[in-house]
Amino acid sequence: MTIRDEADKIAGDIAELRHAIHQEPEIGYDLPATQRKVLAALDGLPLEITQGRQLSSVTAVLRGGRPGPTVLLRGDMDALPVQEATGLPYASRIDGAMHACGHDLHTAMLAGAARLLSARQQEIPGNVIFMFQPAEEGGGGAKIMIDEGVLHAAGERPVAAYALHVSSDRDVAGVFSTRSGPALAAMDAIDVTVRGRGGHGSAPQHTADPLPAACEMVTALHAMVTRKFDVFDPVVVTVGSFHSGTVRNVIPDDTTFHVTARSFSPESRQRLRDEMNRLFRGIAEAHGLTADVDDLGGYPVTVNNAAEAAFATATAAELFGADRAATPANPITGSEDFSYVLEEVPGAFTFLGACPSGTDPETAPSNHSANAVFTDDVLADGTALYAELALRRLAGPAPQ
Ligand SMILES: [Zn+2]
Ligand SMILES: [Zn+2]
Repeated sequence: MTIRDEADKIAGDIAELRHAIHQEPEIGYDLPATQRKVLAALDGLPLEITQGRQLSSVTAVLRGGRPGPTVLLRGDMDALPVQEATGLPYASRIDGAMHACGHDLHTAMLAGAARLLSARQQEIPGNVIFMFQPAEEGGGGAKIMIDEGVLHAAGERPVAAYALHVSSDRDVAGVFSTRSGPALAAMDAIDVTVRGRGGHGSAPQHTADPLPAACEMVTALHAMVTRKFDVFDPVVVTVGSFHSGTVRNVIPDDTTFHVTARSFSPESRQRLRDEMNRLFRGIAEAHGLTADVDDLGGYPVTVNNAAEAAFATATAAELFGADRAATPANPITGSEDFSYVLEEVPGAFTFLGACPSGTDPETAPSNHSANAVFTDDVLADGTALYAELALRRLAGPAPQ
């Protein structure tokens, strides 16, 4: 039987685990119920299991029966603070939490792959690290797992690392897509507080009004992007919130706004942060004000290794047909903390279309929507791809 056949055989179990995780979503670093479900799914398999100290991660190592290198497979486990509105029979039972990014599928597929690969332990030339990770959605859980030693879990560093991510829109169900180089953007969060001196709205000359200066910063930010950055190494900035004052005739003491910034190279990422800092402080100073520019950091660019991306695409094409292995022309402007793993280990981040049949991927609710739906139909094939990437990478020559 092929891995694909074996994945099909356990598809019901994978869906059952997925639904159980979906019904009880947990957010952030501490996912005890999700961790329990993962441990139960792995129970009895020939794995060396360790749990995280600062977060409820699960690291499982499968040592193959034959000598060889190590590869890492990653699935993230955390949900989002979204009130689910799908009406699905297995919808979230937790108020204000939802698996709106499909991480429930990743966790279930990775557990399925652990089961399939465990059944072939004796024939596997090398080791597989299964990385079940909390806190992808903003917490940098991958970085913490690296700090806690996930890359050394098998005793030696992996030669390759792979992750899958489902999407509820964009791609037709079952289509895998990977590209060489940047796959997702770097993301940075910058909070700005412009500080002045409030007073009566009728007498601004006796105040130091922060509000017009903050407005100027927002428009200047967009002008700066077009004047200072190469269109072929693009950056994206959005001011998603802007708050100041209470009533029309009171000049406030301060104005606060929040920026999200996206970039596709380490160089433009650093320069964007530096330029924003200079711009906001400079405009504040020009108006006799001060600005606190709080650079909260974010995630690096997710960069796929060219050979590993080609290997992932070729593996998907061979297993499922060329029409199900896409190579998108551009990265997407979302971001991922698998980027931290790919900074250390060559690998590939692969998307998997999971838009339900009968729904148009162009108009389907996207990941993070309260209405996002990910079909169970892709669970077996995602599981098979995880397992095949590990098997083929361990058994074959390193992709060139
Ligand atoms: Zn997400
Ligand atoms: Zn996600």
